[in-house]
Amino acid sequence: MPQIILPPSIPGQRPGNVQEKIRLALLDEFPDLLADYTALQFSIGWCWLVERLLRDLRESVTDQAVLNRCFPLKAIYSRYSFLEIHFEEELPDDWDELIQTSKRHSMDTCESCGAEGKRSYRKGNHFVLCVICRFLRKASLTALETS
Ligand SMILES: [Zn+2]
Repeated sequence: MPQIILPPSIPGQRPGNVQEKIRLALLDEFPDLLADYTALQFSIGWCWLVERLLRDLRESVTDQAVLNRCFPLKAIYSRYSFLEIHFEEELPDDWDELIQTSKRHSMDTCESCGAEGKRSYRKGNHFVLCVICRFLRKASLTALETS
C-alpha cells in the first residue's frame, strides 16, 4: 500500500524543505511517470491531488506505446490557482477527463493546506485558500504592510 502524503499539520506553516521532500517522495513513488527533470512546482496543499492523479494515470494508462511517448511528465505546476500538467507529448483524449478533474479540484482545494478552499484574487495574484489559511495570510500580509 503506497504511503499517502499528508499536508502540513499546521495550516499556513511550511517547514523549509517540505517542497523538496514531497518532490523526492513523488519521484520515489512514481519512477515510471516522473523523472529527475520533471518540474514539480505546485502548491503544497495540492500534493494529495497530484498523488491521486498520478495513481489514476498509472492505473488507467496501460498502453506501453502511450507510456513511452507521453511519460515521464515534463511538469506539474500551479498556474492562476489551478494545477497544470505538461506531458512529453499530448496525452490521447481518453485520459483528458482525469486531467480536467484534477484541475477542477485544485480550483476549490486550499493551496496551502489541502482543505476545501475558495478562489480569490488579491493584489494581482490568484489564490485558493481555506478560511484558516486565508485568515493567516491576511494577518501576515497586514503585519508586513504595517511594519
Ligand atoms: Zn488551508
